[in-house]
Amino acid sequence: MDEIDTQKTDVDEIKRELTRDWKRQNRAKIRDYLQSVKSLRGCANCGEPRSYCLVFHHKKGVVKKFDLAHMRDCAVSKIVAEAKKCIILCSNCHLALHEAERLAKMRQTA
Ligand SMILES: [Zn+2]
Repeated sequence: MDEIDTQKTDVDEIKRELTRDWKRQNRAKIRDYLQSVKSLRGCANCGEPRSYCLVFHHKKGVVKKFDLAHMRDCAVSKIVAEAKKCIILCSNCHLALHEAERLAKMRQTA
């Protein structure tokens, strides 16, 4: 009984290690993919090219499943599908867009 438990523990440890490695590699792949998409496209509004200034903004009317900035351990295909629903904006243009939307909404309700 003890021997079986020990083997099971070893197998579980190997599985945990493989899962950890897979998650680490998957996160790195996803991070690289998202950074390269940002760098290639730049800000859709002003052309800002620096990837660290850029964010993914979900286009109006699409169903947002999750925020790409907060994704964890997702399949690459799901990340790509979510990224296709977005435009790339720099932080300033992103804030300006949301402010314009907020003001427009206030005007509608007033
Ligand atoms: Zn911009």
